[in-house]
Amino acid sequence: MSDFTSVGHDDNTAVMHIFRSVSHRDHHVLELDGGRLVDSWESPDRADIVDAACDAAGFASTTVETRLVFDRALAEQVHDPDYVAFLEGAHRRWVDEGNDTPCAMAFGWPARRFRDVVPKTLEAQLGYYSFAADCSISANTWEAITGSASAAIAAADHISNTGVSTEAAPVAFARCRPPGHHASRDQFGGYCYLNNSALAAQRLRNNGAGRVAVVDVDYHHGNGTQDVFYHRFDVLHASIHGDPAEEFPYFLGYADETGEQAGEGCNRNVPLARGTEATDWFDALDSTLTWASSGGDNGPPPDALVVPLGLDTYVDDPISHFRLRSEHYLELGQRLAEVGLPTVLVLEGGYATEALGTNVVNVLTGYSGG
Ligand SMILES: [Zn+2]
Repeated sequence: MSDFTSVGHDDNTAVMHIFRSVSHRDHHVLELDGGRLVDSWESPDRADIVDAACDAAGFASTTVETRLVFDRALAEQVHDPDYVAFLEGAHRRWVDEGNDTPCAMAFGWPARRFRDVVPKTLEAQLGYYSFAADCSISANTWEAITGSASAAIAAADHISNTGVSTEAAPVAFARCRPPGHHASRDQFGGYCYLNNSALAAQRLRNNGAGRVAVVDVDYHHGNGTQDVFYHRFDVLHASIHGDPAEEFPYFLGYADETGEQAGEGCNRNVPLARGTEATDWFDALDSTLTWASSGGDNGPPPDALVVPLGLDTYVDDPISHFRLRSEHYLELGQRLAEVGLPTVLVLEGGYATEALGTNVVNVLTGYSGG
């Protein structure tokens, strides 16, 4: 459990508390986009803009100290321990091998009919442990991703610690950067390295939640979170996203992926076409929240909710194609609050930086009854 104390209140309105790290600022990497190596869309400005907007709106926040909060054992419950060690050491190895470019990046991947074997060299392991060239590793990436993970862990601990003493279901917002929902058990990609939302869900389980539902509202499929929990009964996963036939991550996120083995019936994908309007999107949200809060296709209802919160469903997002407007994020917050479960909101994507602060604040305000 964490060192964080609960935030007391005596009415039935949810009190939003924000957890964030500052170690993200030096994580600014390159991505391959349109045939060019460019600065990543996933920029430090995103988090700074969200922080400024949340502060201006008066939300309480805690800046986490990674050395106190990051939990290696938890990370190794969610991810392959060898993958975690790879992330930690990759940039040091990149420098030691004489590379004078700022970011370690893969150029070859184990595609169809290749062998699933762990290679020895760094350049080969970069391909083995990733799935996309939109994502690279800089000198400060490990500090940023462990800080981001710590925000999610602290938020999960906060709602665990607050749960027993308040009338309203506790809620926290983990302002994570870099995001996490594309990171699978052993692959980075889509700007994601450690899966912050999966870490929050696993932490809630470790803290005593019998079952946890993850409902991903980012524009892109939560392929990483699906991968982590695909065979498990204790964590439901649902995602509403751009159809993978035309949108990243392209190779996962179809409606017929329903979970396997113990996880059969515990995964739900709702792919939607480019240009989907808010009315249809909210219909998908409502049916997905009903599915998740009732326990998926089978089993008891969950005790807690984790929401990978992407704001790239916004109409003017530069890399996405749904049509939600700023006022719709108030409604999103209200719908999530109506579920009535202890909830961790985890920041994922959202690249229209000029509107990102407003849109995040609207979700938090809508959730808080504003
Ligand atoms: Zn996204």
